[in-house]
Order: sequence, then structure tokens, then C-alpha cells
Amino acid sequence: MDLGTRVKNLKIEGKRLVKKFVARTEIVDPFKVNFKELEFETTAYCNRKCTYCPVSMYPRNGDQDGRYMKEEVFSKLISDLVELNYQGLVSPHLYGEPLTDPRIVEWVKALRDALPKAQIKVVTNGDYLNKDIYQKLVSAGLSFFHLSKHGESLSKSCLDLLDSLSKEEKDRMFTLIDFYSDFKTDQTLLNTRAGEVKLKIKKKNPIMCSYVSYPVLDTFGNLILCCNDYHSEHKFGNIMDSSLKEIWFSKKNIETRKRIFKGHFDYKICQDCYM
Ligand code: SF4
Ligand code: SF4
Repeated sequence: MDLGTRVKNLKIEGKRLVKKFVARTEIVDPFKVNFKELEFETTAYCNRKCTYCPVSMYPRNGDQDGRYMKEEVFSKLISDLVELNYQGLVSPHLYGEPLTDPRIVEWVKALRDALPKAQIKVVTNGDYLNKDIYQKLVSAGLSFFHLSKHGESLSKSCLDLLDSLSKEEKDRMFTLIDFYSDFKTDQTLLNTRAGEVKLKIKKKNPIMCSYVSYPVLDTFGNLILCCNDYHSEHKFGNIMDSSLKEIWFSKKNIETRKRIFKGHFDYKICQDCYM
């Protein structure tokens, strides 16, 4: 190993030690306050099958019951968020492509009406994004998009939309994340998806894992460990059985998350999670 690489590795290790100290002494503790972000999956279907995503390896929640979140689960989620006076970020997305869900505009509107101070983000691969759906989502109250590029180019309808916007609107409404280029070159953005994906470069388990600090719900309304828990292996409760507040602030949920945040990787999926 050359000197430059050794110095780089020492710096990385030093940063990890500092983070571990900060987390273990609870100088930073995201669980002291209400969560600031939430993801929920309205549809489990994604039209793409990216090689670096578990969607390309396993069917997701089947084609029947689990493909779409039921209306009653969504309504319960909204009333639970209202109960919490939620004002953070909410994203109708997990592994499914939200723009393949025909209810997306209506559901963004329902979120906006119920949570006027929340930020609503749609994470999309852009394949179904066009001027019409963009206008409908913005009018419904969407705050912004995260556009994930998973091919050589974005779809034509998406590029046409971006071309039609002013620079100011484009910058305000879109963050572009180019996974396709990253995957082919340095893999900075990619992670092992809790062991499902093999990386070409060496990475480590995350200290102060940010993914464990906010709720993620699958289409059934289960609160799962994190967005990398593809198989909903670790469930902490279902919002149709008790409230999101009760599930999130339960001893088991908070203690488990705190341990992971501090770098204690008890679960196999965390042990296999490199990012
Ligand atoms: S578009 Fe996103 S969710 Fe769909 S296969 Fe690719 S990485 Fe996975
Ligand atoms: S370390 Fe565990 S909680 Fe954090 S992203 Fe990986 S699998 Fe999820």
C-alpha cells in the first residue's frame, strides 16, 4: 500500500473514531427529539431492474396484496402524523417507483392538506416524469424531487420537462443523483444494500448510521428497520395495530436504533451493510 493510501485510510479511521465517540457519549442523539424524516412505500413496483439494487434480484411484496399500500393504511398514517404535529420531510417512496402509482397526485394533495408545514419529496427515476405530471404534483403541494439517474440518459419526457423550466425553478425543484455514472466509476454513492449488492471497492459499516434515525414503512404499514431492509426482516410494529407514535417511541424501537447509531451491529443485515 503506498503512503498516500495509508494516510487516506488513517484519516478515514480517525473520523470513524471521532464519530463513535460522539455517538456513544450521546453528544449527538437523534432519538431525543421527534424524527425529522419519514419514508413510506405507496407502491412496491419499480419498472427498472438496476443491477446494484435488490429489485433486480427478488420480487417485491408480490403482485397481489402488497403491491399497493391500501387507502386505509395511508389514511391511518396521515392521522398518526397529524397527531404528532409532524412538520418534517415526508417521502412516498422506498423501492417502488412512486410515479407508477396512479394515486400519487391525490396522495400528495392529501399529505399537503393534512401537513401544511411538512416538506414533501418525491424520489423518482424520472421515467414517467413529464410536464403534465410535474404540474399536477406541484399544484398538489409537492416541495421538490430527487431525480435518480439509472441509465445513460434520463427519459426524453423528463429531459423535455427540465428544458422547459427556468434555471431557478430547476434548481429549486430538482436534485439530480447520478447513480449510473457513480456505479461505473468510483461507487461513492452506492452501498451494499445490507449485503445484497457486491461492491468493487472496500467500504465499512456506517457509524452514526443516518438511515436508522427515521421511520420507514412498507406497503403493509410495517415500521421496518431502515430503507435497506428490503425483505422487511426487522419489523417494530404495524400502524394498523398501534399508532406510529407508540411504535416509534417504544423502548425496543429506540434502544435498537440507538445501538446501531452507536456502531453496535447486532443484526446480520447491519453487519453486511457497507457504505
Ligand atoms: S430505479 Fe431505483 S428502485 Fe428501481 S431498480 Fe433502480 S435503484 Fe432499484
Ligand atoms: S447499518 Fe443497519 S440500520 Fe444502518 S442502513 Fe445498514 S442495515 Fe440499515
